[in-house]
Amino acid sequence: MSEHAIISPSGMSRILLCPGSVAASAPIEDAASIHASEGTAAHKLGEDSILLGVSPHDLVGTVITADGVDFAVTKEMADAVAMYVTMAEARHEEMGKDETVMLVEQRVSLEPHIPETWGTADLVLINRKDLLVDVWDYKHGKGIEVEAKNNTQMMTYALGVLSKLREEGWTKEELDAVKVNLRIVQPRTASPVDDNEWDVSPAALREIYKLIKVQACRALDMMEGKIEPVFTPGETQCRWCKAAPSCPKLAEAALAEASEFWSESFRDEVENQILKGNEKAAIHKAEETAAVLMPGISDDKLVDMLASAKLAKTFAKAVEAEALSRAMQGNILPKHKLVRGRSTRKWDDADALIQMAVDSGLSTDELDLMAPRTLLSPAKMEKLSGGKKRFSGGPYASHVVKTEGRLNLVHESDKRDAVTATAEADFSEFAE
Ligand code: SF4
Repeated sequence: MSEHAIISPSGMSRILLCPGSVAASAPIEDAASIHASEGTAAHKLGEDSILLGVSPHDLVGTVITADGVDFAVTKEMADAVAMYVTMAEARHEEMGKDETVMLVEQRVSLEPHIPETWGTADLVLINRKDLLVDVWDYKHGKGIEVEAKNNTQMMTYALGVLSKLREEGWTKEELDAVKVNLRIVQPRTASPVDDNEWDVSPAALREIYKLIKVQACRALDMMEGKIEPVFTPGETQCRWCKAAPSCPKLAEAALAEASEFWSESFRDEVENQILKGNEKAAIHKAEETAAVLMPGISDDKLVDMLASAKLAKTFAKAVEAEALSRAMQGNILPKHKLVRGRSTRKWDDADALIQMAVDSGLSTDELDLMAPRTLLSPAKMEKLSGGKKRFSGGPYASHVVKTEGRLNLVHESDKRDAVTATAEADFSEFAE
């Protein structure tokens, strides 16, 4: 059995949108980034903490090996994982420990109904008496916040769990009545929340199952050469696709708009500058030209171009990541070289240093200069309290104010309510 599923729950949103991506990715080796490997180590810390019944903080200083890389468990990693472990234990308690089975890093599968479709759910809680099933996913990443609602990865896990329960003798009536809750815990985002969850009905799961079956089988047929692969570029599906740097359809889509917008001679000039190493001059020239052209573009055209711009960004990131990865593996890329960024100085052991300063007799004022005390945000306090509002609830709650988020332009399908912008109000914060 291969270590990675061909139709994996984590790739499900991509496979549903671009089934050809399975064939395109198949020959490309998995190369885990250091961030992905660190995430694997954090998952292992969560698993060990739950199974051993200890706090992740008790394991600080131990080493976890993930993808062949050793990661020392740091306080920062333990803080993040502690939120997940504390919430998981509280939920186990709430569901009734005696009646609830808690499964950690559980293999769940849709085989044989849908071939090659399986994955590992981080946490599954099952209470047959009350007909409750919880499926949890821990996300160690801090860049992109992942929603539990309508999350096809989570729904695939849930389908795998229900399929297993059917095999274990749950009746059709029980499976029709079960309350399935999907939850994502992602402690390292800027504002971690403890309610990123979604109740999904068995009927809704059956609907998504039909779609998964159709697209997964198409994807496998494309991979086996039984039908012609179909590629559908788009920001969501291309962002994490292994085939992105070499995908002709993505490149085509990304360049189509640019070809229309920039004249050929302009593009040649910019490309030549970049190849000669005058990257800054090329970027400056492109920025200048864009600034001149933008005001003359209609709203409709701009909207068309937004979609292409996102694809172009995805493609550019994939190309840059691939080039860096090849260079790091020792490939000499023509006209390029690998260099180190500026090195920075940092303390090797902040706690030991502060202790040394205290022992040397520094005054409190001097210590404050050296290590200023800052008030943490309510979200960070809750994260450090394992998801509890110890320092941000009760009497402290009256001092919590919510600032308005920055305005973002998103597609109308986004679940957030639209706001009406008033140029005067919204730009006042940028006024001198
Ligand atoms: S890069 Fe995009 S279009 Fe190409 S195979 Fe991957 S998901 Fe499909």
